[in-house]
Amino acid sequence: MLVDLHMHSTASDGVLAPAELMARAAAAGVDLLALTDHDCVDGLAEAWDAARSHGMRWVSGVELSAQWQGHTVHVLGYAFDPQARVLVDALVAVRDGRWQRAEQIAARLAAKRMPGALEGAQAIQQATGSDPHSPPARPHFADWMVQAGHVRDRAEAFRKWLGAGKLGDIKQHWPALPEAVQQLRASGGVAVLAHPWHYGFTRARLRRLLRDFAEAGGRGIEVVNGKQSPEQVAVLARLAGEFGFLASCGSDFHHPDAPWMALGAMTPLPASCAPLWADARFAERVSGL
Ligand code: MN
Ligand code: MN
Ligand code: MN
Repeated sequence: MLVDLHMHSTASDGVLAPAELMARAAAAGVDLLALTDHDCVDGLAEAWDAARSHGMRWVSGVELSAQWQGHTVHVLGYAFDPQARVLVDALVAVRDGRWQRAEQIAARLAAKRMPGALEGAQAIQQATGSDPHSPPARPHFADWMVQAGHVRDRAEAFRKWLGAGKLGDIKQHWPALPEAVQQLRASGGVAVLAHPWHYGFTRARLRRLLRDFAEAGGRGIEVVNGKQSPEQVAVLARLAGEFGFLASCGSDFHHPDAPWMALGAMTPLPASCAPLWADARFAERVSGL
């Protein structure tokens, strides 16, 4: 059975619309999947309809950003009720915060004689097919600055204006890790720590994160994220066993031009792992069985 529980559509930063994404997953031979857009569940209804029409098994999904010890980490949520008030309210608060941040960046650029940044960045963002309700982010501002002739390239935009410690570096407020886990659990879902290697943590810090995640009520970790090396996968499989986590896997697909994260094409999950989809509570929330 081919399982892919991590992918993005135009509801966040992916380039394919949810229905297109499902068609592509079906063509890749995926049997069970979840759409996991960043801090957004708007694509789920369309994805579910399409997944059903392709005869794939499907479960609700989302990828929440959360704050842990001054770092941003990602928490995958599965099998929750997408209309649960606690989750809907939390996602609205995050989106409002991102709009405020975009407005602040634009105001600061305007004060430096770069007016019209918000509209410009939005136009660039929407040219990528992105949801018009989602605010532009720093790469969109950077591309606008190039287009408007304020800088030569994206790198200069970040170096002078948008990068760490510069005027456009306005921190986004994410929920604390236990809060994000609680939002998912209160919505009937399970929380899975996404791509534990991506944070660049030392082994000791990674263990602290896993311990805190388990204490917060996290149930699993993403043992396989895309075409990770078998060595990295093996370490995570061991850690999952040690902490009693269920194991998940996903491509983290964003766009078709990145063959290193093709739909359904992942390093295999080691046989020693307890797969998330074999868990009874998860399995009973899977549609299309
Ligand atoms: Mn992304
Ligand atoms: Mn992520
Ligand atoms: Mn992702």
